[in-house]
Amino acid sequence: MPRYDYRCRTCGDTFEVSRPMARSSDPAACPAGHDDTVKLLSTVAVGGTASAPASKGAGGGGGCCGGGCCG
Ligand SMILES: [Zn+2]
Repeated sequence: MPRYDYRCRTCGDTFEVSRPMARSSDPAACPAGHDDTVKLLSTVAVGGTASAPASKGAGGGGGCCGGGCCG
């Protein structure tokens, strides 16, 4: 279940709430009971894909087609 970071604008506390993604936009009360909170943009663990996939069939480095095994 993803966790979301919130900050209370009343007491300035930051806290985490674990909740289903479908309820991610629901209001969350801080541990002290204040409900004037804002959701922070946090990095939910979704797995980073920083590198683009390598292009296929570019030739070279395959070990075939160049060694004479492809015809
Ligand atoms: Zn508070």
